[in-house]
Amino acid sequence: MSCLFCKIAAGEIPATLVYQDDTLVAFKDINPQAPLHVLVIPRRHVATLNDLSAGDDALVGSMQRAAAAIAKEHGYAERGFRTVMNCNAEAGQTVFHIHLHLLAGRGLVWPPG
Ligand code: AMP
Ligand code: ZN
Repeated sequence: MSCLFCKIAAGEIPATLVYQDDTLVAFKDINPQAPLHVLVIPRRHVATLNDLSAGDDALVGSMQRAAAAIAKEHGYAERGFRTVMNCNAEAGQTVFHIHLHLLAGRGLVWPPG
């Protein structure tokens, strides 16, 4: 298994976990872009958003709901937060195991860079 995020999900590489269940793991981004920057990943390896099928709809929904719950736990539900998933080169995807970025704690500009 050569995937960095598979290794984090398996506990083989350390990360600061903020949530985990049977299908998801959430941990602090190593290079945070906001006061709260968490990555929510499925335990199962899926390389990009292009590799999802209809059977993954509940999985992706649970990633968004986990992010919202984590934002709320950290006090950002009312202030606001952003979730982002990057797909492939032009969007800046660098780790090819899907992950939802949760960003909160500062004003976030729109449109994003
Ligand atoms: P992306 O550019 O959307 O593929 O996002 C990949 C994210 O993974 C970046 O924000 C990195 O800072 C983050 N990252 C890379 N390696 C690690 C690691 N070992 N632990 C936590 N976050 C990481
Ligand atoms: Zn993986």
